[in-house]
Amino acid sequence: MFIDVHCHLEMLLPAEKAVKESVSNGVEKIISSSVDLNSMKKNIELSKKFSEVECCLGLHPSNLFLMNKKEISAALDFLEKNLPFCKAIGEIGLDFKHADTAEKKQKQTEVCKKQLVIAEKNSLSVVVHSRYAEKHSLQILSGFNGKVLLHWFDGSKNLFSEAVEKNYFFSVGPALIHNKDYLEKTSLIPLENLMLETDSPVEFAGKQAKPFWVKKVAEKLSKERKISLRKIEEQTTKNAKDFFSL
Ligand SMILES: [Zn+2]
Repeated sequence: MFIDVHCHLEMLLPAEKAVKESVSNGVEKIISSSVDLNSMKKNIELSKKFSEVECCLGLHPSNLFLMNKKEISAALDFLEKNLPFCKAIGEIGLDFKHADTAEKKQKQTEVCKKQLVIAEKNSLSVVVHSRYAEKHSLQILSGFNGKVLLHWFDGSKNLFSEAVEKNYFFSVGPALIHNKDYLEKTSLIPLENLMLETDSPVEFAGKQAKPFWVKKVAEKLSKERKISLRKIEEQTTKNAKDFFSL
């Protein structure tokens, strides 16, 4: 059975249909990451409702633009009070694509660091977003003492190697079916550090991703790496279970 270690189930409506469809396609767990206060609340509810769903709690760097200081601290308070419901802190990190000022970058950096402190204090792993900020993300993480999952990491080959050396985990998704350059870079990730994701409901080639697409990703990896689909399935699922303590 497969595990989608990174999606946003709370944005996939109706969630019930997405869960059923996943189970009937060989997915045993869906790990839904949060982006703001509202999505944390929804994800907790979904994890209570479905035995197949687990959640991560955290503030996404891009969502911070819409939040003032008071709202951020209220959301972080909520996060700390609800840690028993979550399997990791996520998704947190940096996204410099739309952070066009030093001030915005600084805000992302501060909130990311605060969440790393919460994770470390509570011995939780982190799920990290690092779009257009791969180098800075690795720099911040170098001070973090805990397990790291880099979601859809797309840095340079050097940065891939650096993260592999640190024994970070990587989750790869449908982008490797459509993007040769990304596929090639992900070949640097040992199978022991690899997990599957979809980032649903993100669109790929005009179609909204669904958690069960992890199977398509595994099939592509199997073909590329010349490893049986069974082996990809077993190892990525084992990695996910160890990482999220499932
Ligand atoms: Zn995401």
